[in-house]
Amino acid sequence: MQFADRLNNVETSAIRELFKLLGKPGIISFAGGFPDSAMFDVDGIREASQRALAEEPGGALQYGATEGYEPLREQLSAFMAAKGAKDVAPGQLIVTTGSQQALDLLGKTMIGPGDKVIVEGPTFLATIQCFRLYGADLVSAPIDGQGVKTDELERLIAEHRPKLVYLIPTFGNPSGAMLSLERRRKVLELAVKYQTLIVEDDPYGDLYFGEAPPPSLLALSPQVPGSRELLAHCGSLSKVLSPGLRVGWLVAPPELLAKATMCKQFSDAHTSTFAQATAAQYLKAGRMPGTLAHVRAVYAERAQAMGDALRRELGAAVEFVQPQGGLFVWARLTGANGAVADGDVLAKRAIDKGVAFVPGAPFFCANPDRATLRLSFATAGVDKIREGVARLGQAVA
Ligand code: PMP
Repeated sequence: MQFADRLNNVETSAIRELFKLLGKPGIISFAGGFPDSAMFDVDGIREASQRALAEEPGGALQYGATEGYEPLREQLSAFMAAKGAKDVAPGQLIVTTGSQQALDLLGKTMIGPGDKVIVEGPTFLATIQCFRLYGADLVSAPIDGQGVKTDELERLIAEHRPKLVYLIPTFGNPSGAMLSLERRRKVLELAVKYQTLIVEDDPYGDLYFGEAPPPSLLALSPQVPGSRELLAHCGSLSKVLSPGLRVGWLVAPPELLAKATMCKQFSDAHTSTFAQATAAQYLKAGRMPGTLAHVRAVYAERAQAMGDALRRELGAAVEFVQPQGGLFVWARLTGANGAVADGDVLAKRAIDKGVAFVPGAPFFCANPDRATLRLSFATAGVDKIREGVARLGQAVA
């Protein structure tokens, strides 16, 4: 069959191949990017869905507006306001089918063949693939423990004049890194200085373990005049409530939002009204703060257990920054004392020892660092985390 040329730019993900091996009995998996299903607030979601059907069956089951179900847009506006982005009116966001769709709509509206796009190295794999599908020529901006290095970012923006810069400033996937407040300001200043669109992807910002992270770029943007007009922000209920609901949202300047809405109309008409009405009822019932407190506490304990176990079992063979939120430890093999220093090699040996993780190389759009690994602490309990890291210790030796 003659497929569209755009498919030539994209391969199926290396990670998907790895997932085929996870069915092996007894494997402890640190590979997934999922939240833990055991933490879903099933009672709260059941009640919310029942109220949605009882109170507004027409709204919940009928076709709806492409922009989203109005009561949900209002709830999301309030949800963001509670996190510091106080001036995002319901009309300044559209509801998307997961934040993944927001990324796709940004690709569709902004990126054409050969357009330069700057992403972090490493970044979310599905964004790499999605933007490449639209023909993006991706440029990798280096990060450290405090997120993207803004000096380097400025140099790359000045050199490439990208269509957009895609960042995950808070607890990145896979990096777990948190962009410092100073760098957040700098990013917004760069947007204005170079008139470049910044995309802030923020599905993990609510999952912090200790102190709250610095305000999102969206929340900070009023402090940097002119930056809001150059900022798109993707939010999601996936990591805090349920990915299966497929409720995300996009905040963007009016012209971009209108174009994205038009593209969404041709794509899925609207996000499931039933899911939207359920999410709206859930938020309205005021259950989110309790749910957030619960998931933060559970993930915090697991993150600590994984960090402690890595230090104990792998010692100098690995270096990493202890995550302050999110779902991932991003680690780098040092090769100390003859230990394995290649993520792919270690991944294969780890499967034989009964533990799985994702090697870091596929998360780079260029110059992959093959010594890196992404370890999710989200789905295994503390005992399994300790056991899994002990197995990893055997595999690395
Ligand atoms: N962005 C990032 C950084 C992610 O890690 C994910 C989920 N893995 C998404 C977007 C998409 O999430 P969803 O479509 O479920 O909102």
